[in-house]
Amino acid sequence: AHVIALKIDEDGPFPWRALLVLADETSIKRAERMRADFLANASHELRTPLASLAGFIETLRGHAREDIAARDKFLAIMGDQTERMRRLINDLLSLSRVEMDEHVAPSGQVDLASIAGDTADALAPLLKEKAIRLEVDAPHPALAIGERDQIVEVAQNLLENAIKYTPREGRIVIEVRSDLTRDACEKPVMDSSERSGRLAIASPPGRTGRRYSVLRVRDEGTGIERRHLPRLSERFYRVDGQKSGPKEGTGLGLAIVKHIVTRHRGGFLVESEPGKGTVFTLVLPMLAAQESATRG
Ligand code: ADP
Repeated sequence: AHVIALKIDEDGPFPWRALLVLADETSIKRAERMRADFLANASHELRTPLASLAGFIETLRGHAREDIAARDKFLAIMGDQTERMRRLINDLLSLSRVEMDEHVAPSGQVDLASIAGDTADALAPLLKEKAIRLEVDAPHPALAIGERDQIVEVAQNLLENAIKYTPREGRIVIEVRSDLTRDACEKPVMDSSERSGRLAIASPPGRTGRRYSVLRVRDEGTGIERRHLPRLSERFYRVDGQKSGPKEGTGLGLAIVKHIVTRHRGGFLVESEPGKGTVFTLVLPMLAAQESATRG
């Protein structure tokens, strides 16, 4: 703690004021350590594909130059690694952007039903590649307070993940609803069992009586073991055993989603069961005017 003395009122009876500054050093230290960890992780994540690129360049300089088949294979791997670095850098930039405006309230208005449709269109090529059937169940407009770009980013992240962890020819459903109470938004939608888990990664702060719109992405993919749920939104966290392959994620997607949801004073829930599938639910507050309009 520090005491700072300020002379404010020269002529009055009490010219001096004391300012007592109490700072919680442990929380400052923790924040510093998190930042250092983050930098270390980010550097490590970037260094891995870079080391692989450097290795293949070396090899190509050597004997592989004459072996056309080997050369083409190496170039394909180098292409994947470059793509991976590009994804990482994009996600890092995205994360730093959402962190920067986390304390500025969003001003716009979004329709989750139209965002669901646009997201389905944008990811149609990925769906087609794996022959996945997507149902968009969004019968009515679902307005909410939100910044469109950011809510689109959330929806895309959730659908991309669902596609990534769904087997070929699987099924995904995007469901959009509005004018719900907070309890209705947070009600479980998956049957619970011994192996299922459920977690509110973020909850809307604040007043009761408020109405919400939700966007829910439901897949019948690999599912996630309960013990991983609390760590999903940590930066760079990936579930073991899902880490390999050129399409490997960055582990930043859900961290970005969590920041965006927090900024929007919304909620974010996950329900999952290994072998059965996963449901992510985004909850966003409606404008007060919209609430009465839809109900009246
Ligand atoms: P990534 O870029 O690796 O997908 P995310 O932050 O989006 O990073 O997700 C973190 C981890 O959560 C993923 O690596 C994956 O293990 C798990 N995960 C996310 N969504 C799903 C899903 N729909 N089904 C199964 N696992 C998922």
